[in-house]
Amino acid sequence: MTLDFRKNHNHRQFTHCPSCGHPGLTRDSIKSFCCKTCGFLFFLNCAAAAMALIIDDKNQLLVTRRKYDPARGSLDLPGGFTEPGDGIEESLKREIKEELNLEVTGLSYLCSFPNLYPYRSVTYPITDMAFTCRVNGFDDIRSGDDVTGFEFIPIPELAPGLFGMASARKVIQYLKCRGCDARGM
Ligand SMILES: [Zn+2]
Repeated sequence: MTLDFRKNHNHRQFTHCPSCGHPGLTRDSIKSFCCKTCGFLFFLNCAAAAMALIIDDKNQLLVTRRKYDPARGSLDLPGGFTEPGDGIEESLKREIKEELNLEVTGLSYLCSFPNLYPYRSVTYPITDMAFTCRVNGFDDIRSGDDVTGFEFIPIPELAPGLFGMASARKVIQYLKCRGCDARGM
C-alpha cells in the first residue's frame, strides 16, 4: 500500500451528509470534508496508536500475528489504538495485557511513523508510536484479543518485509539501522 496521504479522499466513502442528508460531500483539506449545502465540516484527524518492542534475554524480539484485516495473518508488533480518555502509555500497557497477558513494568519512547489503516470502507490516518518495553517475565504469556499467536525472532534475523503493516516495517528498519540493543535504550 502506498502511503500517499494527499490521495486519502475519505469524503468519497460517505455518500450523504451526516447532518442534513444531502448527497455528496466535498474535500476540504487533507484531513477534512464538508457539505456545501449546510456547512457541516468533519475532521478525520490522525488516530494515535502505540506499538511495543519487547526483547527477551536472548536478544529476540516478541512479535504477534494479526487476527484481523488489514494485513490479517501477517506478523506485527504488539500494541494498538488509544481509547478516548487514555494516555499513550496506559493504552500500550492495556493492549499488551490483552494481546499477550504480559505486564509492562517500564517503557521508553523510541520513534513514530505515519500509517494508513484501511478498515471496511474507511481508510484512517494513524500516528504509530513505538516504545521499548520491559515486562515482568514471559511465564504467563498467551495470545488473546486481536492476535492469533506470537513468536520470538532473533534480532539479527529481523527483516522489515516480514511485517504486514507499513509502520511496523519502518520501526523494524529503524531498529536495524540503529544497530543497538533496544533493551538498553
Ligand atoms: Zn449537510
